[in-house]
Amino acid sequence: MVNQLRQALLLSVIALAAGAAAPLRAAEPPGPIRLEVDATRAPQKILHTHMEMPVKPGPLVLYYPEWIPGEHMPDGPIVDMAGLKFAGNGKAIPWRRDLLDMFAFHLDIPEGVSTLDIDFDFLLSAPAAGYSAGASATAYLDLVSWNQVVLYPQGYPVRDLTYVPSLRLPAGWKFGTALPGPKEDGDVIDFPPVSLNTLVDSPVLTGANFRVIQLTPGEHPSHELDIAADSTAELAMTPETEMHFRRLVAETGALFGGVRHYRDYHFLVTLSDDVAHFGLEHHESSDDRDDAHSLIDDEDLVEFSTLLPHEFVHSWNGKYRRPADLTTPDYHQPMKDDLLWVYEGLTEYLGQVLTARSGLWNMQQSREDLARIATEIGASPGREWRPLQDTADDASVLYNADYDWENWRRGTDFYEEGELLWLDVDDTLRRLTDDKKSMNDFCRAFYGGPGGAPALKTYTFDDIVAALNELAPYDWSGFLRTRLDSVAPDTPTEALRNGGWKIVYNDTPNEIEQDRDDIRKRVTLTFSVGLRLGEDGNVIDVIYGGPAYKAGIGPGMKITAVNGQQYSPDTLKDAITDAKSSSAPIRLIVANGAEVDARQIDYHGGLRYPHLERDSSHPDYIGEIFHRLAQ
Ligand SMILES: [Zn+2]
Repeated sequence: MVNQLRQALLLSVIALAAGAAAPLRAAEPPGPIRLEVDATRAPQKILHTHMEMPVKPGPLVLYYPEWIPGEHMPDGPIVDMAGLKFAGNGKAIPWRRDLLDMFAFHLDIPEGVSTLDIDFDFLLSAPAAGYSAGASATAYLDLVSWNQVVLYPQGYPVRDLTYVPSLRLPAGWKFGTALPGPKEDGDVIDFPPVSLNTLVDSPVLTGANFRVIQLTPGEHPSHELDIAADSTAELAMTPETEMHFRRLVAETGALFGGVRHYRDYHFLVTLSDDVAHFGLEHHESSDDRDDAHSLIDDEDLVEFSTLLPHEFVHSWNGKYRRPADLTTPDYHQPMKDDLLWVYEGLTEYLGQVLTARSGLWNMQQSREDLARIATEIGASPGREWRPLQDTADDASVLYNADYDWENWRRGTDFYEEGELLWLDVDDTLRRLTDDKKSMNDFCRAFYGGPGGAPALKTYTFDDIVAALNELAPYDWSGFLRTRLDSVAPDTPTEALRNGGWKIVYNDTPNEIEQDRDDIRKRVTLTFSVGLRLGEDGNVIDVIYGGPAYKAGIGPGMKITAVNGQQYSPDTLKDAITDAKSSSAPIRLIVANGAEVDARQIDYHGGLRYPHLERDSSHPDYIGEIFHRLAQ
């Protein structure tokens, strides 16, 4: 509703200001637009772009990409654009930004000008936080996202705009990309004409230390791991890990009935502690950025293992099949995020399933992660006021939320709770059909098609319900809407119980949570005192209404002492264990900015960490689901 209102307002203002017709008119698009990107100063955190755009005299509106596909929000990094200059026939052409739309530039093209020269720099982010606009370059590598270095004319679907891109790399750097037909001339790569849609969907990973691994050698389509790192040592991988990535490709074949909606697929893997860490899906590639030691450190590898499966699944779920509400003709029209519980939730589910089936995680690790997610989501007090659907509807805001009070605010829970929701769908399909149908059949049916070159087939909520009814007639609409719209539905517990497992707590840390805590240098005590804090005692989150909350503790405070001793994670854990056999509260000294005060947590339940235990009253569907499918 807010997006629609905003869109109508913006379009009418732009039309008035520019005297332009309604956007996306059926006019003939301008001829091919030349785009030259110079990345030779990428290590210095700056890119230069030069464009030559065929134009006609009169008013012209140019857009900088705002709604970035896969990021589900208007986070195009326009703040990092600098040195913008327009010229025609060698003479400068003035411009003015729209007063209400910071992503639109108004120009008046003089008579006699048929080619517009555009120059600007893109200031590469130095801080490592964020998504594709976060840090992408180091002294040794860069991930070039084309949306950051282009402008495009208003009024045409981006699939109808043709660009002729070239990219100049730092001397000697290698590259990987799904963009077809690259021709190397020294350090310049020329690409054949391509639609803006495909260009933006095909980033280029480049670096001095670069490794290419063919996962399906000699086969068509090919699957390539393109890895860039700050040192050659970080490019190493055990034969076992490499075998698991090969199995990942084989398992997607088995899951989706051998249908692949890409010509070739490139995993563009950036391994560096100095870039943003996230994954961004594309149709024929994925931008996967993680820790420098992701492939060579066991703990880091456990964390990294889910990234590629998730982003790979998006080629089918998100790129080929996409919610109609997320399908826009350009990067300017707002997207509606209401079906992200399918786009992201089902991808999270299938990604976890494939992580297990490919062997990247063993069964125990996969179950430990289910226990972690189910309890973290299940214990989130925010579920008492905010239904799952609203976490999707509000995603463009929630992606930028901080971690403090996350349990009460709720975050982008359509990933984790979405995973459990789709596990419950899988359980239910199996139960209704006497284990003859499952989400494996859904995947073959819903993502089927001719395959090959990227295609787009949109869907709505009703299409999901219809596809499930094809497999097993049931009130799927009611099933889904109850879990999406009611507050505090039993989804986490039910999904596990229907899958043959139940949650138990003991004082042994959850393996996956412990791994995540070690990497993030934090301590999770959610199910005992209701705290998540840094190893240094800084409070990250406090469970709303839990024991620490009742003791007056909040995010941003710092615990400095426990029962008269200097704070350390072990001191606090020991105090929690000791309080089990005592009626005395746990005594803390807590700093809150300038104030230092004593606090007491009255908790005597000991350390509690979640795990799964087999529940023999239900069939072990979870065991079946995680079992490898490919021969
Ligand atoms: Zn995703």
